Amino acid sequence: AAKDNGRNSYEFYSQLLSDKANKEEQLKLSLESAIENNDFCVVYQPIVSLKDKSVTKFEVLIRWNKNGSWVSPADFIPTAEKFGLISKIGDLVLNLACIELCNLNNKGFTNIVFNVNRSIYEFSSGVNDASWLDTIKKYDLSPESICFELTESVLAPENDRCITLLNKLQNAGCTIALDDFGTGYSSLNYLRRFPIDTLKIDRGFISEMTKVEGDAVLVSAIISMAKALGITVVAEGVELKQEVDMLVSLGCDYIQGYYFSKPLLPELLPQYLIDFKYD
Ligand code: C2E
Ligand code: MG
Ligand code: MG
Ligand code: MG
Repeated sequence: AAKDNGRNSYEFYSQLLSDKANKEEQLKLSLESAIENNDFCVVYQPIVSLKDKSVTKFEVLIRWNKNGSWVSPADFIPTAEKFGLISKIGDLVLNLACIELCNLNNKGFTNIVFNVNRSIYEFSSGVNDASWLDTIKKYDLSPESICFELTESVLAPENDRCITLLNKLQNAGCTIALDDFGTGYSSLNYLRRFPIDTLKIDRGFISEMTKVEGDAVLVSAIISMAKALGITVVAEGVELKQEVDMLVSLGCDYIQGYYFSKPLLPELLPQYLIDFKYD
């Protein structure tokens, strides 16, 4: 009987594994056709400067319309990274962002910076490294108007190519932000190895900051460390007035989160910029 049991549980687990693999294979196929059909759009979340009490930066966030329902990037970016589709998605997002930036410039909103997420995986997997700068130039935009946020959901191989590409982007005038700092793989080691202009403190720390003393200490230490290194700090996922107050008193540079605004459709940006008031 024991033997039978072992065998049953083996079959059970291998069934589970193949279900998971099938699901992922399905997702990969629908992602491929979504890329083909251009079923993506992007939304823009304001990043508020605490020093200037103004908005000049937005994070560009992808949205996938899958047969009429929206799929969260958290549910498809890891698969896109795993199956080598992420750089097509990244290019698509960069193009949409550039088009919108041209729109804003034409309407007289200059000095706007768009933060575009790019997976660290792309940097280390032999992407054509001139192409991102070419895209920015193609739209006649200045590289200063694009910040690349390094994100990582699948552990990327350590690679010197990554550092070379980052340096190239930075030398051209783009800025580089380290996303989700303090979680997963986004760590001190990246801060050591990569040319980082901005560090984004992960939402996880911010949402506990006013409740858990240890998290407040960590946020405070991250801000001090960034200042000592000459790196700009953005707090992510700020939802409460209490969190804003604490971040102001800790000397944080920028705040992003629902407290100020959810991500916005592109057509809402001009009016948002006109109407924005810090207080
Ligand atoms: P992220 O880059 O850390 O982006 C911030 C995420 O937090 C966004 O989720 C945003 O909508 C959400 N957020 C912002 N403020 C708040 C808040 O106050 N409360 C809460 N609960 N959430 C807040 P979203 O748009 O679902 O994106 C999830 C992740 O997917 C992003 O995290 C990023 O890692 C990835 N992602 C999104 N767009 C792209 C893209 O174009 N390329 C790549 N490679 N990754 C992307
Ligand atoms: Mg980001
Ligand atoms: Mg983030
Ligand atoms: Mg995050």
